[in-house]
This record gives sequence, structure tokens and C-alpha cells, in this order.
Amino acid sequence: MDWQDFRDHLATADAAGRRLWIFAKQPRGRYYTARLWVSYLLLAILFAGPFIHIQGNPLLLVNVVERKFAVLGQVFWPQDGAVLALTLLLFLTGIAVFTAAFGRLWCGWTCPQTVLMELVFRRLEYWIEGDVAAQRALAAAPWTAGKLLRKVGKQAVFFALSFVIGNTLLAYIIGSDALLRIITDSPANHLVGLSFMLLFTLVFYLIFARFREQACTFICPYGRFQSTLVDENTIVVAYDHLRGERREHRHRGDTLEARRARGAGDCIDCRQCVAVCPTGIDIRNGTQMECVHCTACIDACDDIMDKVGHPRGLIRYASLNGIEKGEPLRLTPRILGYTALLLALSGLLLFVLLSRSDVDTTLLRAAGSLFQQTAEGQISNLYILKIVNKTSRDLTVDLKLEEAEGRLTVIGGPPQVPAQQLVQHSVLIELPPTSLVRGRRELLVGVYAEGKLVSREKASFVGPRDDTRTR
Ligand code: SF4
Ligand code: SF4
Repeated sequence: MDWQDFRDHLATADAAGRRLWIFAKQPRGRYYTARLWVSYLLLAILFAGPFIHIQGNPLLLVNVVERKFAVLGQVFWPQDGAVLALTLLLFLTGIAVFTAAFGRLWCGWTCPQTVLMELVFRRLEYWIEGDVAAQRALAAAPWTAGKLLRKVGKQAVFFALSFVIGNTLLAYIIGSDALLRIITDSPANHLVGLSFMLLFTLVFYLIFARFREQACTFICPYGRFQSTLVDENTIVVAYDHLRGERREHRHRGDTLEARRARGAGDCIDCRQCVAVCPTGIDIRNGTQMECVHCTACIDACDDIMDKVGHPRGLIRYASLNGIEKGEPLRLTPRILGYTALLLALSGLLLFVLLSRSDVDTTLLRAAGSLFQQTAEGQISNLYILKIVNKTSRDLTVDLKLEEAEGRLTVIGGPPQVPAQQLVQHSVLIELPPTSLVRGRRELLVGVYAEGKLVSREKASFVGPRDDTRTR
């Protein structure tokens, strides 16, 4: 047998490049059970996320349309660009650290694609069509009413679930209230929203009904760049080739001692690890791009080891150095470097979050406006004030001119800023001409909300130069 031929083609394609459909056997075992419990928790968070509100704000919101974001009930605006950029950097660094140390643990346990595909859609498939043997038989069977019923029924269930997932994604983007309005209002008023609802549903349906493992192999970039992050110290789902080779079928009455005496390894070449693999690979060929670390092969092999009386763990979480040299997880300079960067970014993010104000203001001279001279001889400048209220309560904002004698008037009265809203006001500032030096000066304007100073805005004030004071 040519064990190297896996390098020449994908496990999911034949020699002509046609797709080979993966019929994965349902895994059973301690890791599968643990992943099921983790998936229940993650699915509960995923589906409830947009509908849970903390102090009136969604748990998670990624409203790219209105450029409004919420995490754990904290609302972030485009003005919080530093927070968003740091969070993104932290996320990417976290992935790098985690992958360097623990491989694709994220993919196997928490990635929404794997969780939904392996622990929701595929379980529904087992429920409707049976385990792998029944699925193969159904696929090969002629079209009868029974087969049609099962196939159409499965696709209908997949489509309905994709609709729920698509709506959940839409709720994460536009908010649950807007989604409810689309559902309950007249469809004519929400053609764009309904189009996205259908688009998301179709995308998810195609991913889970057709693309499946191809989403991880061809679309997701993470699998591709993991090869640059993992090394011989990374903990991955690995086959212990020292213990397993030379692989050999089990003879009747074989014992571990008898196998070892004749130079055979612990692997009995039953291929159960391949049968359960949702990406169709043979983990005995080593770490491969297609492996999503789902642990199904660990469970399958442990089950076989139990049955033949060999110790468990022929396939297990281990590093190459762990297998070959017995080394535990080592903190390599690369992991230490990434971790230091991660800690620095975390500290910076914490500082930015703690120093983040509840109210953001900008005060700029109105574009194209000139200074004016009032009847009392004062010089006036017009400004545009923008205020973002990031809190979940309405605020009345007060402005005071600091370090300058003069008058500040908010046109229309003190700004009322509703919760989570941005308002814009015109502001007129008047100063005596004598307070200007060569026709200009810098101003400080204090912004107060609920009596507390929330920011000090700098503004440039212009007037006539001494020789042109009267206009
Ligand atoms: S399940 Fe275990 S014993 Fe069977 S082929 Fe895979 S590695 Fe070998
Ligand atoms: S090789 Fe094992 S861990 Fe990797 S995808 Fe296949 S079954 Fe999952």
C-alpha cells in the first residue's frame, strides 16, 4: 500500500478531481460527549445572544449598517476606533498564541461551523437517515417514495434550520428589534431586509447541506495559515506512530505482548479513525490541513483499544516532541513572545476601556463660516457640536467656556441627547476683541453631563487682526 499517496490528492476528491462525498460514522466517546455539552452552551449563547439585553443594550451587536457595535451590553461607536482595532489585534494575537500552543482547538470545540455541522446538522442527518451504513445504502438505493420522503424531509429540516441561523445572524447585524419589525411588519416595507434574510438562509443551507467540510478546507483561511503557526511542540490531535507502527491487522487470540514480540505496533489497521473523520483524512498520515481537531478519531481509536485490550491514547492530544521525546507542553520562545504581546495588548485595551468616556464630543468651526461682529462690539464664531451619548440613559449636556471671558450659546438650548444617540447642535461663541492676539486664540470648552465634566474640547477662535478690526 502506498501510504504517501495522500499527498497527491485531497481525501475528498478522486483522481479526476470529482468530489467524493464523505459519509462519516457517528462518533461515540468521552470527547464527543464533552463536545456535545460544550455545544449546548455555545448554541444557547449563539441563538440567545441578540435577544439578551444588558441595561437595554444587546449582549452582542455588529451593526455595520449604522456602525454601532455592542459587546456584553457595552455599546461602541465608530469614535471608539481604538477599542475596535485593539480588540481585533488581541483576537488575532490570541489565535496565534493559542494555535502555536494548542493547534486548532478552536476549530474542534468552538468554531460555529464545526459546532453546527458536526453537532447539529450531522446529528439530524443520523436521526433522519441513520448511521453511515444506512446512509450509504440510502444513497445507492433506487428512488422510491420512502427515499424521496427521507431526502426531501432532511433538506426541508436543513433549510428550516438555516433560516433560523440566517435570522440570528441578521439579528446580530441589525439588532433584534429591527429583525422583529421585518418579521411582523408588511413585507413591502422591508424588501432589503427580507432579501438579506433569504440570502443568509441560502448561504447557510448550502454550507451545511452541500459544502460541509469544504468550508473548512477551501474557504476558511485559518486551516491554511496554521502550518505557519504550529511546530513540533504544538499540542495537536496526533497519532502516536512510535506506538502504532508497524500497523498490522489483529490475529485471532492476539495479545499486546505477542504483537510487540513480532514487531507489530498497537494499530490494528481497523480504519475506524478514518471512518469517523468528517474531513475524510487518515490521521495516521500526520497533521494535515484538513484536520479540524474534532477528536472523533480519538474516541474511535480509544474504543478499539478498549476492545482489543490495548492502552488508550494511540490517537490523543500530543505534540510531536511529546510523542517522540516524551516532552510535555513547552513554552517556546515563540509562545512566550506571542504571550507577551497578548498581555501588552490586553493591558492597553483595559486602559482604553477604563478611560473611555460615556459621552463623546467634537466641536469644530462651522465649515465656510466667517467671524461676525455683534452690535455690542463682540466677535462671534459659529461652531458645530456633535455629541454621542454612549450610555443607556438620556442625558442633558451643558457647555461652559473655560479660561476665557465671553459668552457661549447653544442654539436651541442645552442639548438633550437620547440614550445611544448622536445629536448635532450649532454653538455660538462671543468674545471681546481685546482677548484675541493677532486675530485669533485657542479656546477650551468644558462639556458637562449630569453636572460632571466629561471632556474638554479645544476650539480655534478667529477674529479681525488689530488693523482690520472693523468690518
Ligand atoms: S482506530 Fe486506532 S487502531 Fe484503528 S486504524 Fe485508527 S489508529 Fe489504528
Ligand atoms: S483527523 Fe481526527 S481530529 Fe482531525 S478532522 Fe479527522 S477525525 Fe477530526
